[in-house]
Amino acid sequence: MGNDELHVLFFPFPANGHIIPCVDLARVFAMRGVKTTIVTTPLNVPLISRTVGKATIQIRTIKFPSPEETGLPQGCENSDSALSPDKIIAFLKATMLLRDPLEHLLQQEHPHCLVADMFFPWATDSAAKFGIPRIVFHGLGFFPLCVLACVRQYRPQDKVSSYTEPFVVPNLPGEITLTKMQLPQTPKHDEVFTQLLDEANDSELKSFGVIANSFYELEPVYAEHYRNHLGRRAWHLGPVSLCNRDSEEKAWRGKEAAIDEHECMKWLASKEKDSVVYVCFGSMTSFSEAQLREIALGLEASGRAFIWVVKKGSNEKLEWLPEGYEDRVEGGGKGLIIRGWAPQVMILDNEAVGGFVTHCGWNSALEGVCAGLPMVTWPMYAEQFYNAKFLNDVVRIGVGVGVQTWIGMMGGEAAVKKEVIEKAVKRIMVGEEAEEMRKRAKELSLMARKAVREGGSSYSHFNSLLQDLRSPTCM
Ligand code: UDP
Repeated sequence: MGNDELHVLFFPFPANGHIIPCVDLARVFAMRGVKTTIVTTPLNVPLISRTVGKATIQIRTIKFPSPEETGLPQGCENSDSALSPDKIIAFLKATMLLRDPLEHLLQQEHPHCLVADMFFPWATDSAAKFGIPRIVFHGLGFFPLCVLACVRQYRPQDKVSSYTEPFVVPNLPGEITLTKMQLPQTPKHDEVFTQLLDEANDSELKSFGVIANSFYELEPVYAEHYRNHLGRRAWHLGPVSLCNRDSEEKAWRGKEAAIDEHECMKWLASKEKDSVVYVCFGSMTSFSEAQLREIALGLEASGRAFIWVVKKGSNEKLEWLPEGYEDRVEGGGKGLIIRGWAPQVMILDNEAVGGFVTHCGWNSALEGVCAGLPMVTWPMYAEQFYNAKFLNDVVRIGVGVGVQTWIGMMGGEAAVKKEVIEKAVKRIMVGEEAEEMRKRAKELSLMARKAVREGGSSYSHFNSLLQDLRSPTCM
């Protein structure tokens, strides 16, 4: 079977941080000549179409269950609009109802393989019904995948006497220490969520394998460990964001930006190389006003030029900004505040940007690596503490802001003070330590770009995946 005869169907979880890398992944397949279809619900189509850009990818829709069935408000088809703990649970339950429509579509489309998000554990059985393999896409790299697997299997958190007592993650290279406070917490210890994670783990073990958004040279020890010691079948095909090559593709990736790209590029063009720090906390985080004020003052005190992405949910008018801040900082050309969605990859790849303050979502962390940037790590929820450990202690291109506990998407009270933010920003932007981190990050960036080019490790692993999919035992 040639690549063009192979048909792969992608089914991303409806959250921006899951959809975007999944569309990038689908584009990687399309670029290699594979027939590619993305399945989603109607209200997620605009985000997907923008990100697909000029690639030849079919988008098929299935209906999202109605408000009567789910208890969710009309139009809530993306977890971005379901951020309260109760709504998240209702949202997760609603996505379980997508099973029948997806199976109906599998029957119509006859793909050869289903790549579905980890949050659809039932997808392994759905694919099996049609005699095709299911591959899991978490959008993560090997380090967080290994930590998640080891913590689940050995439960070191049950052997400590407090939330703050450190433990070493068993059977994981590198003496990685964590505390119970840093492990992914389930919203209100909800049973639905806990059960979903258990089912996700079981279905992953039954599935054909896992696609990692990573490249071998970034984490060879953990790539080997995941495959050889934890016994999982996995292919590294990333960094998938590198499929966005020209400025148009980068600008179109994700939601419609809250700033005109040309204006943003003009602002950056007026700055010197490596002089700007980019500050963004992913697609879902919103902070308290007190914390936002600390960030504003910390950035100003750092003396560095900055682009800061503030999600609209925080307060569109930004009344919480310190007195005179907009005139002083924005007006003075020192800072650019993007009120909503930013074209992140486009900004990170601009040569004026020299550092990144991140919440350590894996996509952002890897995009920072691709851009060759030292990072300030400020993890908040999910597996972000693992990713921060990776950046700070394994590849050593990050410095922490000292947060020790999982605080969720709402960012808590003003946990991180302005002085700490100022100091961390200075550490990644100027001086010997910053230069050493930048040098290491630039080396990784070159390796990432080489990995996805013809003959590179991710490019070649794609061939192995296709070979595995063509093997008669594939299922
Ligand atoms: N992103 C973006 N603009 C924004 C916020 C996020 O382009 O204003 C993109 C970012 O480039 C990344 C994804 O959204 O690809 C966020 O994924 P990540 O894993 O970093 O965090 P999450 O949003 O899932 O917490």
